Amino acid sequence: MIEIINVNKVYPNGYHAVKDVSLTINDGDIFGVIGLSGAGKSSLIRLLNRLEEPTSGKIIIDGVDMTSLSKKELLERRKKIGMIFQHFNLLSSRTVGENVAFALEIVGWKKSDIDKRVDELLELVELKDKKSYYPSQLSGGQKQRVAIARALANNPDVLLSDEATSALDPKTTKSILDLIRNIQKKFGLTVVMITHQMEVIRDICNKVAVMSDGKVVETGGVHHIFSSP
Ligand code: ADP
Ligand code: ADP
Repeated sequence: MIEIINVNKVYPNGYHAVKDVSLTINDGDIFGVIGLSGAGKSSLIRLLNRLEEPTSGKIIIDGVDMTSLSKKELLERRKKIGMIFQHFNLLSSRTVGENVAFALEIVGWKKSDIDKRVDELLELVELKDKKSYYPSQLSGGQKQRVAIARALANNPDVLLSDEATSALDPKTTKSILDLIRNIQKKFGLTVVMITHQMEVIRDICNKVAVMSDGKVVETGGVHHIFSSP
């Protein structure tokens, strides 16, 4: 369970991007956060794995207060939080296989175990035949599949998605959402997705929070929030 309690984020330049946000995200949720550009969605999701520090408030993941962890504890905890991005963030000088392997190398996996795990992950995202390709040789959807494989490398219990389908065409978007849904089912992950695309919320999320000007202005079941009055 992810508990976000009265969280504020004020950037060093004084901009108040997240305003007193409280949300509870249950295990197994595919939780969507929707809002216009600049609403504070990306700031909020980056607070969840402490890519950003909250200015005040608490973030508790599975009973662990993310704001009180030592550097070492934070690195341990972050292994269990995978993240995917709008622009994929792959390393262009490394192959598909090497991009996925990197996520294992940096947390100290043995060389002999890495290759097997990489194959397993590439099979999961149906990209085994592209293992030796470079990112520039892949379509957008294939790049996102590599990023998903990388995000899942350490068997996370949480997957964070920052506009993961925003750079993709509708058909590819659908296939990436199907993959995320299947992975959620298979591994019982909790997924938090931020998006400005209503279709994404409707297609895949069970719960949604609507953000506007740094605040959560509505939250609830997707059908409840988006059904016509
Ligand atoms: P969204 O993801 O909904 O587009 P963001 O969280 O990216 O929203 O941004 C919310 C607001 O916070 C924007 O006005 C943005 O300019 C501002 N912001 C984001 N990051 C920083 C930063 N590092 N320093 C100052 N302001 C920032
Ligand atoms: P940017 O601000 O340019 O989007 P970030 O600071 O978000 O970059 O991330 C820097 C790099 O670290 C990226 O290549 C990203 O893929 C990787 N990264 C950060 N957090 C995670 C995570 N939890 N899981 C996987 N990769 C991550």
